[in-house]
Amino acid sequence: MEETIFDKIIAGDTQADIVFQNDHVVAFRDINPQAPVHVLVVPRTRMKSIAESTSHSPEVMGHIIHGIAETARTLELEENGYRVVFNTGRDAMQTVPYIHAHILAGRKLGWPPG
Ligand code: AMP
Repeated sequence: MEETIFDKIIAGDTQADIVFQNDHVVAFRDINPQAPVHVLVVPRTRMKSIAESTSHSPEVMGHIIHGIAETARTLELEENGYRVVFNTGRDAMQTVPYIHAHILAGRKLGWPPG
């Protein structure tokens, strides 16, 4: 699998605005925010997408969900709420082939998404 921008951020080789991290995930602000709060949560365990998660222990996905909740708490998003999105594959317009969860918050988010 080719190295992605998220590999470089996790390695500390590329600058990012990190808002939360622990042994399992790194969370940083999206460079092109789609909401007042737009953060990406990336596991330190490398995989391409949710589709590839079946090749790993389910614990990895558990750590991602836990990291999302911890990030949202750190950013005080719990009261007003937030949306979590895993773009997976072409039709979902996944552009970076390293699994990541988008946390979107800070405004009323439309549903269904366009
Ligand atoms: P996706 O379309 O789900 O693959 O989302 C990839 C996201 O990564 C996009 O929202 C980009 O704006 C974001 N992104 C790309 N490069 C960087 C970067 N260097 N730092 C932060 N976010 C980035």
